[in-house]
Amino acid sequence: MPLSESGNRLMRQLRVPQRSCVICRQVKNKRDLIRLVRNGDEISIDTKGKMPGRGAYLCNSVVCWKAALTKNRLDQVLRTKLSDESRERLVEYSKNMSKQGSIE
Ligand SMILES: [Zn+2]
Repeated sequence: MPLSESGNRLMRQLRVPQRSCVICRQVKNKRDLIRLVRNGDEISIDTKGKMPGRGAYLCNSVVCWKAALTKNRLDQVLRTKLSDESRERLVEYSKNMSKQGSIE
C-alpha cells in the first residue's frame, strides 16, 4: 500500500463528520444524528447513512422530532409534502425513541 493511502485513512479517523440538526441547528457528530431521506414523496429513515436522495439530519431527541413533525418543518426542509404514511411511520419511530436521556 502506498504511503499516501495510509495517510488518508488516518485523516479520516481523526476527523469526525459533523452535521447540524435541521430543527435546533445544533452541530453534532454525524453518528449522533438520524438521517432522513426523501425519495419522491416517501421519507425514509436512513439508518446506514447511505441512501441516495435529499437528506435531512435530526437529533436523536424526541423534542426535535416532535417539532419536525408537528409544525411541518420537515416538509419545508425536504421541500415536499409528507404522505400520511410517512408521517405516521416517523411519529411511531419517535415514540419508540428513548425518553430516557436526550436531555442535556
Ligand atoms: Zn435537534
